[in-house]
Amino acid sequence: MSDFDGAAMSRFVSTFADRLHERREELTQLDSAVGDADHGINMDRGFSAARAKLAELGEADLGTMAKTVGMTLISTVGGASGPLYGTFFLRLSTSLGERDAASTGELGAALRAALDGVQQRGKAIADDKTMVDALLPAVEAFDAASGDGIGPALAAAAQAAAAGRERITPLVARKGRASYLGERAMGHPDPGATSTTILFESLRDAVAAD
Ligand code: ADP
Ligand code: MG
Repeated sequence: MSDFDGAAMSRFVSTFADRLHERREELTQLDSAVGDADHGINMDRGFSAARAKLAELGEADLGTMAKTVGMTLISTVGGASGPLYGTFFLRLSTSLGERDAASTGELGAALRAALDGVQQRGKAIADDKTMVDALLPAVEAFDAASGDGIGPALAAAAQAAAAGRERITPLVARKGRASYLGERAMGHPDPGATSTTILFESLRDAVAAD
């Protein structure tokens, strides 16, 4: 398919919620090494609530769907990840607006707006060892491959997110709780970069499943 529509948005949120639930212990394990052992619980709780709210919402435009997810995350998830993932979906919402379907270019612009929002909110830049290090390369890779269509662009984005997560594992963290650990964070994967990788894999697979 060439467009990203409401059915794709539902499949995306639902697939992401399923995978976060399956992998909640792994994510919490990662956060127990560098933080406070709640990332898996936070993400599982937030996205299962968001999926339920989307089901209640029924048919709606893409902006309303993304806004519902963002508001639910902000109200159900504490810590750093609730406001950051909440901002991600609220910015997607503003960018997608009242469209029932987005072209590859429109989805790329929305993902770019979401990245900008996360960076404005959390003030993290590249190499601070956060979710931004998966999100930023994913958005760049999507843009670079968008001429090939939505499927290849999302495949490239998912691959870039995973590579970004791997790339920062040896680094010291400069934002979030992991920054308190100094050199002891070196060698531990970042929990948020891991969940962002799962997000892009879910988006890729939700679109490919159409
Ligand atoms: P908390 O750190 O409040 O317990 P979580 O454990 O749910 O929240 O999320 C931790 C993740 O949030 C980190 O692994 C990191 O990727 C991300 N994170 C933390 N602070 C920031 C920030 N300022 N900007 C971007 N991402 C951040
Ligand atoms: Mg935590």
